[in-house]
Amino acid sequence: MSPRGSVAIDLVGTTFGRLTVVARAGTTTKPSGGGDPTWACRCECGTEKVIRGKNLRSGQVRSCGCLAREVSSSRLASRRGEKHFQWKGDAIGYDGAHQRVDSAKGKAADHQCVDCGDQADDWSYVGGCPRERVSDEPKTIGCVYSPDPNYYVPRCKKCHWHHDRGDGRRDERVVRGTHQGAPPAG
Ligand SMILES: [Zn+2]
Ligand SMILES: [Zn+2]
Repeated sequence: MSPRGSVAIDLVGTTFGRLTVVARAGTTTKPSGGGDPTWACRCECGTEKVIRGKNLRSGQVRSCGCLAREVSSSRLASRRGEKHFQWKGDAIGYDGAHQRVDSAKGKAADHQCVDCGDQADDWSYVGGCPRERVSDEPKTIGCVYSPDPNYYVPRCKKCHWHHDRGDGRRDERVVRGTHQGAPPAG
């Protein structure tokens, strides 16, 4: 009969992408009992890292992390930059996000301010977006905004300013509250 516990396949000397296995490191522990063998690997970049054998053999891990970093930074570089409004990710600046709203919903000036009913001047972030960001651009530093156009409403300059001053969340509740008082059923 075989002894209790499985004998890990010896991976020492095996190369996975940029990683070469140099030694058996240990075994991961799981709450359910048992575990996966882990291996000390040396990356081509010189970094040593302990990786699960399972992740090595499945091809999930092929570097210390330097490979993924290089791929994503070259992808970034190949775009026109995150400040551009056509940037589709969350990594968009305050101005870029507002321009994105323009292209998604049209000019704010074609809408009425949600607070006072005057002609709107700007798209104003309503808050509550799970992907909310804080501007680090000099002109708008500290302003919260969303990369998602659905979280914007048209506002005139005055109301937008009010909103961004901090009591915006309360204003928004007032705006949403205009539909309360449902007609009697039947
Ligand atoms: Zn590396
Ligand atoms: Zn207004």
